[in-house]
Amino acid sequence: MNINLRFGMHGDIQLIHDQKDLIDGLVIPGHILAYQAASTSVFITSMFDKYYVIDPMTFILQNPKGVHLNDKGNLRPSVGKLINLYYPPLIEKLDDLEIDSKFRPHHIDDIDEFCKNVYEFQMTIVKNESKSSKASKYLDRYKRTKPTKPKYIIPPYFRFSDLSDPWYDFTLECAKITLNLSKLPVYPVISCPARSLNTELIDRISNDYSEFKGVVIWIDNMNEIATTSDEIQKVKNLLGKLSKSEKIIEVLYGGYMLMATCKDFLHSISHGILYTQHKSYEMTPGGGGVPERYYIPKFHEFRSMSQTDLILHKHPDLICDCEVCQAIFHGNPDNIIKFRDNPDLLRQHFLTVRRRECTSLESMGVDLLKANLQKTYDDYHDSTSQLPNPDAFLSYSKMRGLEYLIEWNNGI
Ligand SMILES: [Zn+2]
Repeated sequence: MNINLRFGMHGDIQLIHDQKDLIDGLVIPGHILAYQAASTSVFITSMFDKYYVIDPMTFILQNPKGVHLNDKGNLRPSVGKLINLYYPPLIEKLDDLEIDSKFRPHHIDDIDEFCKNVYEFQMTIVKNESKSSKASKYLDRYKRTKPTKPKYIIPPYFRFSDLSDPWYDFTLECAKITLNLSKLPVYPVISCPARSLNTELIDRISNDYSEFKGVVIWIDNMNEIATTSDEIQKVKNLLGKLSKSEKIIEVLYGGYMLMATCKDFLHSISHGILYTQHKSYEMTPGGGGVPERYYIPKFHEFRSMSQTDLILHKHPDLICDCEVCQAIFHGNPDNIIKFRDNPDLLRQHFLTVRRRECTSLESMGVDLLKANLQKTYDDYHDSTSQLPNPDAFLSYSKMRGLEYLIEWNNGI
């Protein structure tokens, strides 16, 4: 299974370069590439030994009008840039929308033009921008750069709730139009919530997308810690059905649970460095800063630094044995404080552990996988769920336990 890192912030560029052996490829969000075109393009060309794809992020258009506007009531620059590139008539149409209404498929009245623009953007931007005059100031940063084409093209796509949602047909039409246009392979993104995945929908998806060699699945807002075994099974059914036609299946926004459940069907998984293991289509792109957190390898989940502190003091055997953590902790949980001075090490630790998880899953049978999850639950659930929650100390509540491991086990 490949790990495709979802690019998020320019502040991570140095880290990605240093740790590039831990990843296989990059997913570049279109709004970041459009808005910071020269610097992002030069970064991509400097990673020429890794493949990349450009996520066109067209689902952003499904947000209510208010989400597209900043505090002053102006169109957010990153969204404005995307609309101008993909379908400029939408700028005027946005003016006519009420603040809480959304675009509908009919607002994109020239679907061929829209698909062509989204395609051209992916085909040309990196090459053009890395030669632009703006690029020269970033070029010095890297020893070598070389523009390459994306590994495949992603057609415009939108999240749908079920088959009656007009965005389902619109997304499929965009995929077919793009397939006719494209000189590169085309992998459509299919995005819906797990609860919608009944047999009828799974059969339709499998039929409707039969002519594509690859697809990218995004289960909307599938938080691995909160998901149910029923939802996990539905996702597994979809991927199992698609894999029967020997498609290449990639997943956007996933973590250990999806990797473990679908390891036999999945070609690659993608996520951010410490965040975006799941994502809702309703989230505003480019939110503010987020607190640092630590990935506890045995738990296969992130905890806040203050929760991790308590958990590791209670169970020093949970201290990770990767090179990063050995150098930080020297076996003493008090040393967790050292991450504060060098938060990049939290990212380095996570990428190291994720690569290990990926490798170990490849040779692990389902029985052992399930036994491991059960043992982690048995060993740590009770004591973890009795610890005070330092992130909510005023309410005297306890920390969340590891119930999710049981859901995973039942789903797998
Ligand atoms: Zn570690």
